[in-house]
Amino acid sequence: MATFEIVLVPALQDNYMYLAHDPATKATAAVDPAEAAPILAALKARGWKLSHILNTHHHLDHIGGNAELKAATGAPIIGPKADRDRIPGIDVALGDGETYSVGSETATVFDVPGHTRGHIAFWFKSSAALFCGDVLFSIGCGRVIEGSMPEMWRSIEKLRALPDETRIYCGHEYTQSNIRFALSVDPGNARLRAKATEVDAMRKAGTPTIPALLGDERRTNPFLRADVAELKAAIGMASADPAAVFGAIRQRKDSFR
Ligand code: ZN
Ligand code: FE
Repeated sequence: MATFEIVLVPALQDNYMYLAHDPATKATAAVDPAEAAPILAALKARGWKLSHILNTHHHLDHIGGNAELKAATGAPIIGPKADRDRIPGIDVALGDGETYSVGSETATVFDVPGHTRGHIAFWFKSSAALFCGDVLFSIGCGRVIEGSMPEMWRSIEKLRALPDETRIYCGHEYTQSNIRFALSVDPGNARLRAKATEVDAMRKAGTPTIPALLGDERRTNPFLRADVAELKAAIGMASADPAAVFGAIRQRKDSFR
């Protein structure tokens, strides 16, 4: 089966936008276009035509290019049902458990609130690709801005349940600074220390650390490990429930310098 060809397009300071192209049908989706111009250039370079605009959430660094792309290509805007009022020009609003097709590839949509009230993730199972915006980052997670800590933990648990081979296409290149924090709460994690060396080398070479592999994140991302005994003990919360542990780690990250 053909799967998506996925192109990472950097934007703004540290955002990643994506093009997901289905070779079978030539359908091409732009995911979280912060800016239109780099997307239009990437399309042109490959001779692709934009057919869909996918948004994970309403923040401007994920929808800023919507209007210009829609005007230039006629592609519809697809986004979270719970925040349809905060995404100008939205054409299709999706919620938890719904499916949506881009060419011959079909996404399952998950509601993953916490960073924002209406945040969704698109999981294209046959391409093993997860577009998760600002919920999950490599070795990190988004700030909990519009939801509660337990709500964000449930969202993270939902994504963590996907197969190990799932590639995580998230909204930002934060991996290197995320690792500095992760080592402060999970210092005994050998895989995390090895990852720090790998990521330093990648960043030095100007290589993106995205996509991350879910199976690897499970072993290294402290926000996926709030129910792991070793990590709970390391932060002095051995008997606390995972949502509370998650909340404590997230709070530490908010004030980490
Ligand atoms: Zn955001
Ligand atoms: Fe963002």
